[in-house]
Amino acid sequence: MLRAVLDEKLETIFDDVVRRNPAEPEFHQAVREVLDSLGPVIAKHPDFARHKIIQRICEPERQVIFRVPWQDDRGEVQINRGFRVEFNSALGPYKGGLRFHPSVNLGIVKFLGFEQIFKNALTGMPIGGGKGGADFDPKGRSDGEIMRFCQSFMTELYRHLGEYTDVPAGDIGVGTREIGYLFGQYKRITNRYESGVLTGKGTDWGGSLVRTEATGYGAVFFVAEMLKARGVGLEGRRCVVSGSGNVAIYAIEKLQQLGAIVVACSDSDGVVHDPLGIDLDLLKQIKEVDRARLSVYVERRPGAQHRPGGNIWSVPCEVAVPSATQNELSGRDAETLVANGCLAVVEGANMPCTAEAVRAFHTAGVAFGPGKAANAGGVATSALEMQQNASRDSWTFEHTEHRLAAIMESIHRTCLETAEELGMPGNYVIGANVAGFEKVARAMVALGLV
Ligand code: GLU
Repeated sequence: MLRAVLDEKLETIFDDVVRRNPAEPEFHQAVREVLDSLGPVIAKHPDFARHKIIQRICEPERQVIFRVPWQDDRGEVQINRGFRVEFNSALGPYKGGLRFHPSVNLGIVKFLGFEQIFKNALTGMPIGGGKGGADFDPKGRSDGEIMRFCQSFMTELYRHLGEYTDVPAGDIGVGTREIGYLFGQYKRITNRYESGVLTGKGTDWGGSLVRTEATGYGAVFFVAEMLKARGVGLEGRRCVVSGSGNVAIYAIEKLQQLGAIVVACSDSDGVVHDPLGIDLDLLKQIKEVDRARLSVYVERRPGAQHRPGGNIWSVPCEVAVPSATQNELSGRDAETLVANGCLAVVEGANMPCTAEAVRAFHTAGVAFGPGKAANAGGVATSALEMQQNASRDSWTFEHTEHRLAAIMESIHRTCLETAEELGMPGNYVIGANVAGFEKVARAMVALGLV
């Protein structure tokens, strides 16, 4: 793998992380990406080195791994593994989603939790970083099975949570339905209607308007800012959004509202190419109501094609929004996008672009928005949900969306200005890593050796 040269001190820290966390490649990748940006920070803040801030930040405060036993509809006993990594609480209670997917393991949860620390810091909200999940595969499971799994998962996890301690939300495989079952079980066990213990709740029972849309909308607000900084707009641009889950659907919605044309989306079975523009009502019906596979889209939409196993990045576009999962866009895919005239790439998912892909975008001068900045709208709106819960209030859609847009603008400005100060204008990766890190590091120094 191609690698940037690291400062010697940082290299030693990185080697130690790899040695102490074997067989966790995604965690190593996420740490490496942040350390690659930190050279100027350690030069500027010798006290960070004295307090061993980088080494401490790479070590989670607490990691919980637990058995999740449950019974399927046939009465068969099933065993899954649950995780919660409480990574850093210097800025607030641990905050971050739960992912239910067969690929979940400790390394995946740690990469997500690590990224979450800096993402949450960038939002400017008082939230620390954490992540959790299980290697449970919700695909094809009945509603009853999902409920029993969530109840069993929470029966262990509840003791680690609390509105001032740790506040999970959704991620892949966890949406409002799952948060409902998790919240119901938490309430039953604790005998407390503690709304602020989970976010992404239904709007009838303590959820915030705009939370469902927030990650996708936020990513589009971010790319609109990136294009604006280059003196161009989104209107009329051809876009490709990978995935067809919550992030992708609402990225498509906002892109369309802003006059862009989204010509492709995908799921793990393949790619839908719809040159006239994705029919969003149909997509929502398939994914949110019917919970069906994307392939049925073409049965109801003449002119669209489904390519089983196809590569979405070969569809020419000016704006790409990878919104499916980690490492879904390789160096080679990045070269294809560049060759096809792509202007901007914004990460709706967490770490969807490999290190090689990011390098290819930077080399080609493509505007690149890293997930920890660009997809922070989801968790930022979770913090707005916590705010509403704490004050027993609920805000209008317009007010909440306005707050989200302002947060995304501010994150964009912070990244841009930080990169500029460091002599790397337009490098949002450096801007996001350094700005997020400095904020957490200052708080850790202030709070002492804890
Ligand atoms: N899972 C989302 C993320 O990656 C949201 C987390 C949250 O709202 O706490 O940021």
